[in-house]
Amino acid sequence: MSALQTGEGVPRPDGLTTYKFEQRTTIPSYLIALAVGDLVGREIGPRTTVWSEPDVVDAAAWEFAETERFITTGESLLTKYEWGRYDLLVLPPSFPYGDKSAVDVVAHEISHSWTGNLVTAKTWEHFWLNEGWTVFVERKITGRIHGEAERQFSSIIGWKALKESVELFGHDSPATRLNTDLTGIDPDDYFCTVPYEKGFNLLYHIEKTVGGAEIFEPYMRAHVERFASTSITTEEWQAFMFEFFEKNHGSAVVDKLKTIDFELWLRGTGMPPVDPGFDTTLADACHALAKRWDEAREHKHHNFKPEDVAGFTPTQKIAFLERLTDMVPFSHRLLARMDELYGLTPLRNADIRFRWHQLCLQADYEHIYPSVTSFITEQGRMKFVAQHGQERVGARPEYVFGEQVVLPPDCGRVNRKGYRVEGSSGMI
Ligand SMILES: [Zn+2]
Repeated sequence: MSALQTGEGVPRPDGLTTYKFEQRTTIPSYLIALAVGDLVGREIGPRTTVWSEPDVVDAAAWEFAETERFITTGESLLTKYEWGRYDLLVLPPSFPYGDKSAVDVVAHEISHSWTGNLVTAKTWEHFWLNEGWTVFVERKITGRIHGEAERQFSSIIGWKALKESVELFGHDSPATRLNTDLTGIDPDDYFCTVPYEKGFNLLYHIEKTVGGAEIFEPYMRAHVERFASTSITTEEWQAFMFEFFEKNHGSAVVDKLKTIDFELWLRGTGMPPVDPGFDTTLADACHALAKRWDEAREHKHHNFKPEDVAGFTPTQKIAFLERLTDMVPFSHRLLARMDELYGLTPLRNADIRFRWHQLCLQADYEHIYPSVTSFITEQGRMKFVAQHGQERVGARPEYVFGEQVVLPPDCGRVNRKGYRVEGSSGMI
């Protein structure tokens, strides 16, 4: 998303050039950002230019070629795209290189054009209205493009990430509430996957309860139309939802809605109160391969091959590695073999790298340390840096990081002098 440039740059007598931009849609002030650098652009669609440094811009244009399709799918689900241009800025250190797996991030950011940027949470206590809604819309878009099985699969991945956040903070931590109380709390201290994934699960549960997509999707559109260009609270969100279903479907649907314990969902701590029962079709192949590796501990000979993962999508590779991280740490011999066969360490996809590192760190596999260090100093995304910092410190308290991220040995959190999420090179 970008403000619209008006006219050409005007050279000034002092040698500088003045550029003007215009933002016609009302936005909250926290969305304003300036990017300055050696940037060039490539048109990849009727309203999209990818901007990056000259040596990666062509690769970036290829990586994000599907952007227009995401926008039009979002428009068919919700309302007309309001902002005119959808430009992308790719910063080289966080660029994933070559497997189009970052498209989920783009689908997420495009979804923010409606939920988060057009309909905005009034305060950070209602942050889930930005992020939970956006994950929900993102998965609706990818589901329409790649099929329902894919939507179910990424929901499983999200559930696992949610579980990790809940375990990290503790099941009764106030940080695991959807509608948090931030009195005296820095919102960054509660930053985790809860608003994203617990928020997604609440909307998913509501959709299921009221009778599926046919009934829920028109409500999504009405929600955006009703609250466009405003900032709302959880209470306002809830009141309008009841009003919509009452008006359009009467008590039959409202009675179903009333079976949901909103107080528990919104203000209870820990995991969601309802098991979503996602379809595991795409996850099964990943879990079967993980099981074979688990069993291989007992045997000297095994028949793993590079082809084991050749047909996997990037998301399936993540699910495979995630399953392994749930198991007892692997021997260094097996980790070395896995890396040799599947070529994991050289992969640039941030989510795969993150899971592979996690697996190695759990086993205190020292060969991975240089890769982890460069990853967390290049990669600014909070979700990677904060958690790796904690694992790393747990594994080797005496290990000192590079200059950009320094973690005191007794502290699992990122040192805020060394790193702040606002300075992130990634997207949230
Ligand atoms: Zn987001």
